[in-house]
Amino acid sequence: MDKEDLSPHVDEIMEAIGDKVPREKISEELERYIDVFRLNIQTAKRTILKKFGDLTEEPVISANLKKLSEIQPGEMSVNFVGKIITVNDKEIEARGEKKRILYGLIGDDTGTLSYTVWDIPEKRFDRGDVISVRNAYSKEYNGRVQLNFGSRTGIKEIDEEIELADIPISTPKPAKIGEIDDDARSVEVTGRIVSIEKKIISGDSGPREIFTGLIADETGRIRFTSWGDTRLKEDDVVCISGASVRFWRGMPQLNFDERAEITRVKGDFPDAKSLMESQIAEIFSLNEGAGAIDVTINGVIMQIREGSGLIFRCPECKRVLQKGSCRIHGKVDGVADLRVKGVIDDGTGALTAIINRDLTEELIDMTIDECIEKAREVMDYDSIKDILEDRLLAQPLQLRGNVTVDEYGPMMIAQSADRLDPDIKSEAEKLVIRLEESE
Ligand SMILES: [Zn+2]
Repeated sequence: MDKEDLSPHVDEIMEAIGDKVPREKISEELERYIDVFRLNIQTAKRTILKKFGDLTEEPVISANLKKLSEIQPGEMSVNFVGKIITVNDKEIEARGEKKRILYGLIGDDTGTLSYTVWDIPEKRFDRGDVISVRNAYSKEYNGRVQLNFGSRTGIKEIDEEIELADIPISTPKPAKIGEIDDDARSVEVTGRIVSIEKKIISGDSGPREIFTGLIADETGRIRFTSWGDTRLKEDDVVCISGASVRFWRGMPQLNFDERAEITRVKGDFPDAKSLMESQIAEIFSLNEGAGAIDVTINGVIMQIREGSGLIFRCPECKRVLQKGSCRIHGKVDGVADLRVKGVIDDGTGALTAIINRDLTEELIDMTIDECIEKAREVMDYDSIKDILEDRLLAQPLQLRGNVTVDEYGPMMIAQSADRLDPDIKSEAEKLVIRLEESE
C-alpha cells in the first residue's frame, strides 16, 4: 500500500491523537505495521492509537485482541472489538429470579458470532455501535461458538468504524466427507442423506426440534445435526454449504441450521446401499485418527479376551461385578449378561470389539438362558468363554459400529455383527492363512 492510500488514515489518526506526534512519524509507523507486520489497516490504526493516544484513558485495545473467527469454544477470557449487528432483550428465569438479558449478533471483518449479555450494562449499546469487549467467555451452543458477557466482562463503546465480513465466519471449503478433519471450520459437502431422525431437546426457550442423521459420499460418512428444520429427507442428495465441523467424543460431526445453503443435487449419485457397502474400513487406518463413526470392518476373531462370556452386572449401575460385588454398591444380586470382547484382525491391523448380548446370542446360536443352563450343568460360568472360543475363533465376521481410539488402540462397540457370506468367507480364509504365515 503506498503513501497516497494511507494519507486519509493518517489524517484520522492525527485527528484522534492531536499534534503531539509529528505526522511524518505516524505515517512511518502505519506503513511499518502494514508492510512489515502485515496488520490490516484497522488493526494497524488501533495499534497506533493505543501507542500514541491519550494515555490518561484506559487503553481501548488490550494486547490479546482476537478476531471473531479466531475465538474457540471454552475460552475463559477473550478480548475483541466488534460491531453490534442485532440486539434483542428477553426476560429469563435464573435461579428462581426473573432477569433481563440481551442477545444478538456481533461482527467484525472476519465473521459474526452470537452473544448473550447476562448483566446488562448501565449504558446499553445499540445496533451499529462498535464496542470493545474485555473478559468475555465463549461456549459452544448448537455447534457454534457463542460469546457470553458476564459480570467480569468490560464493555465499552468506541468511536471506530468496522467493516463487516461479507460471509459469516469463513468461506465454506468444499470437502469430501472422508477427508473432513479438525482444520475444517466451515465446509461444503455433497452427499446422500442415508438416515435422518427428529429429536426433541430442551432449550432455553422450551423444547425444540432438531434433526440428526448420517450423510455419506463415496469417501465416507459423517453424523450431522440440523438445528432447525432444513427439510432434509432420507435419500436426498444435497450440497450443504456453510456447515461447521465440531468434534464430539473424538469424532467429527457436521452442524448447520437454516442459514446453511442447501441445494438438491441432480444427476448420478451412488445409492445408499452401495455407499454403505463400499465403505469397508481398514483397521490400520482407524489406528491413526481420533476415532470414526459408523465404521464397517471385515476381519477374523483372533482372540476372545478376559471378560467375555457370561458376566453379571450390578442391578443399580450396570457395572460388571467382581466376585459378586459391585465397586459402588457392594454385594448385590447380579443380572446375567453375555458379551464378547474380541480381538479382530483384518490383515492391516487389529482392534478390540465389544459385541453385546443380542449380537452374541445370534453369533453362537445360543440364548443367554441356554448359556446359564449349560454353565450350571458343568458348575462353571467360565465355561461359556470356552464355547465362545469354540464357535468364534478364526471366524470371519463383518462388524459395524463406532470406533474410539485410546492408548490401547482402537475399540469398536459393535452395532451389528454378522458372519461373512461364503464369497467373502473364502477371502477371509485366505486372510487367516496369510496371518498364520506371517507369524
Ligand atoms: Zn452398582
